[in-house]
Amino acid sequence: MQSRHFIDGQWTDAGRWTDSFDPASCELIGRFADGGEAEAQAAVSAAARAFANPKWSQNPRLRQQLLLDWAAGLKARQEELAQLLTRENGKALAQSRGEIAGAISEIVYYAGLARHNPGHVLEVAPGEFSTMLREPAGVAGLIIPWNAPAVLLVRALAPALAAGCTAVIKPAPQTALFNAAMLEPLFALPSLPAGAVNLFAETGHVGAAYLVASPLVDVLSFTGSTATGQRIMQDAAATMKKLSLELGGKSCCLVFEDTDVEAIAPKLAAAATIISGQQCTAARRVLVQASRFAEMKRALSASLSEIRLGHGLEATTQMGPLIDWQSRDKVERRIAEALDCCDEVLLAGGRPDGALRQGAFLAPALIAHRDSGAFFCQEEIFGPLLVLEAFDDEAEAVTRANHSEFGLSASVWTNEGARAWRVARALRNGTVWLNDHNKLFAEAETGGYRKSGLGRLHGVDALLDFSELKHIYQSVGTLG
Ligand code: NAD
Repeated sequence: MQSRHFIDGQWTDAGRWTDSFDPASCELIGRFADGGEAEAQAAVSAAARAFANPKWSQNPRLRQQLLLDWAAGLKARQEELAQLLTRENGKALAQSRGEIAGAISEIVYYAGLARHNPGHVLEVAPGEFSTMLREPAGVAGLIIPWNAPAVLLVRALAPALAAGCTAVIKPAPQTALFNAAMLEPLFALPSLPAGAVNLFAETGHVGAAYLVASPLVDVLSFTGSTATGQRIMQDAAATMKKLSLELGGKSCCLVFEDTDVEAIAPKLAAAATIISGQQCTAARRVLVQASRFAEMKRALSASLSEIRLGHGLEATTQMGPLIDWQSRDKVERRIAEALDCCDEVLLAGGRPDGALRQGAFLAPALIAHRDSGAFFCQEEIFGPLLVLEAFDDEAEAVTRANHSEFGLSASVWTNEGARAWRVARALRNGTVWLNDHNKLFAEAETGGYRKSGLGRLHGVDALLDFSELKHIYQSVGTLG
């Protein structure tokens, strides 16, 4: 396989290529054109030219049709794309299939919203009208991560296009082949104006940094770590562009004593090991009421140790490898440090033996600890580590959960409906699930409190991240 940049309506490369490997088997999958600042600059110029044409920015019906045609093109290649996603990212095929189906559904959702992005009109005094019009923000720079490269591409690009922006996409190098394949059916549409959507890949950061600094980029949407998000905020300050930042998390699951611990332990284990623990909303800390703590230790250890590791294309696999060997080594080091200083090690995890040893695999680790200030209760460790903590009452559960600089998501597990809502309202998180975890939808806005980010993607409000509100005033007088 081979993928190139797509700039100003043309597939292009400058002769620099980088290989892409399957993280489960080390097999070479293909190579992608590896660009940098020159590609970023050309793509931004093309997007700015395309945005200047009102036949794009003021034409919701054209943009809707493009989104619908793109969705249809993806549907025709759904299985092929799911397999490529599993090979390049490592996740289990069932998860890849679910992700592609979700991404297609989300494109269709924003195709509808492209034709319904209303402002409002007020008569502020007799015969004086203030019209508040939603306008596209301009050129959108989109920096997309590797962990869910179908849905996270679509949840930024589809609302950007629905709002009327033009776009420059910079995928993660780890999933550059997949993102190019996802965009191919869109780029093939004859009705897509040259420059309206551009793509360049790079292994370094200079092209991404150009998107952040360029005065021609009006809105920058980044999904990635909080540290990079902070750097982007600093570097974007000079141009004061709009920022949409979807950053790190450290999700807590609060489990009260009235729950069926045996029944929910497998659900918590799945919530912690989704994409091998490489999901921003993955369960990281399980807070359990003290009377059920011992039972939860046993049940969760059993559920996590039953998870079947393997190549994502094998039907029995529940958990694939980490994204690459560098990430595996980093996560492994941090987990080893946590095992060294925690109160109790319940499952040590580590590299599996046998055929999987050459892949970037890590089995899930489970520890118990009292002090929520410990680094492994505070820091986002992007892999399969879960921490168990005990609490005595509702107030302590909430205090522990809110003891975090992040605020992305949490879940509350109880059969008492009023308590579920009371606790949900007290949690400082953008999303709270009741008796569930990791339920994410095109229709439901997602985003973070505190250091988990700025703005919201998914849902109607994602259009706000890619829009400006213009006030147009006119005094027309009154009859008589
Ligand atoms: P990362 O912060 O390492 O981001 C890597 C990306 O940032 C690359 O594309 C790189 O080119 C770009 N980049 C690096 N330096 C830059 C700079 N100075 N200016 C502009 N761009 C720069 O994150 P990652 O490891 O790829 O992704 C994992 C992180 O993403 C986790 O923290 C996870 O929680 C987060 N995430 C958040 C959400 C969410 O919805 N909140 C979703 C998925 C992932």
